[in-house]
Amino acid sequence: MTDVIVFEHVRKEYPDATVAVDDLSFAVHEHELLALVGPSGCGKSTTLRMTNRLVQLTSGRILLDGEDITRVDAVGLRRRIGYVIQHVGLFPHRTVAQNVATVPRLLGWDRARTRSRVGDLLELVGLDPDRYARRYPHELSGGERQRVGVARALATDPPVLLMDEPFGAVDPVGRRRLQVEFRRIQRELGTTVMLVTHDVDEAVRLADRVAVLSRGGHLEQLAPPVTVLSSPASPAVAELVGTGAAVRLLTLGRLEPEDLAPLTAEDVRAADGLGAGGTRSDAVVEVGAPLDDVFAAVARVPGGRVTVHRDGAPVGTVDADGLVAALHRVTGPTPS
Ligand code: ADP
Repeated sequence: MTDVIVFEHVRKEYPDATVAVDDLSFAVHEHELLALVGPSGCGKSTTLRMTNRLVQLTSGRILLDGEDITRVDAVGLRRRIGYVIQHVGLFPHRTVAQNVATVPRLLGWDRARTRSRVGDLLELVGLDPDRYARRYPHELSGGERQRVGVARALATDPPVLLMDEPFGAVDPVGRRRLQVEFRRIQRELGTTVMLVTHDVDEAVRLADRVAVLSRGGHLEQLAPPVTVLSSPASPAVAELVGTGAAVRLLTLGRLEPEDLAPLTAEDVRAADGLGAGGTRSDAVVEVGAPLDDVFAAVARVPGGRVTVHRDGAPVGTVDADGLVAALHRVTGPTPS
């Protein structure tokens, strides 16, 4: 596994003697999405901004593809690293297309190449170029502006993308959709992403690995989302993931055949009735369904036993016990 970004004993002390980050070491692997999460003021933005040298580190080293970032010229560095922030900072007097084309034009791309790239990117982020390319930022919703910001950051297909609360300005429903779409794009492009968020839900939903920071940029835990939720490494992590951890785990797991109980003759009759009338459709889930959907179904049906289908045919049932077993399967054996 290649390490794209490496922090080695990094410290940042601001001129007023605030130590924002102290002795931070970790690595971001190629193609992964690593989320930095932690309470406000714990040093997340400072960590991100040291990586593209918007903030100068005090001591230690940051390597990009094995190269010390202080030895790369800053302009060259920022071409290799895209940057998305919460308040996107689109140019107000430029159209959507011109905003997305900012960096390609700086790089001297010709018109045809730039135009085709802009069109592709707008489609990628779900904005129809015919409708949006000529609009100005004030003619967009907050979510649409955010999409343009993502498109602009991806314009030159940077291998590395830094994102600071990138979906923070979007309403909850739009945010969820944008997260899912962004994750798809990121996987497709293979972009290595370091993302800062104070939102634990966002971190566990998006990230391959989550780095939990506490005050002073202290790394409390760096692990896959399921591990952070099921085995918090310290009281600070436990406090951050909180009592919602089990519910969040439900969003990460899926129903597998091994979680099912066999169908009884009565179940089969009920399932037949369902096929004909379709009136009890909320009592059915599919194999592979997210566990939070299964939980909702189990909670809803009288008796708490839900028929499970695969390819349209009933293959078993699941109840609260099955759900708990599924949850344990997701979290794996917990270290004692
Ligand atoms: P986070 O992104 O986790 O909210 P920051 O990295 O923004 O945290 O800030 C970490 C600490 O550094 C905070 O105590 C903050 O007040 C301080 N800080 C951030 N920027 C500056 C600055 N330019 N000068 C002095 N202190 C700063």
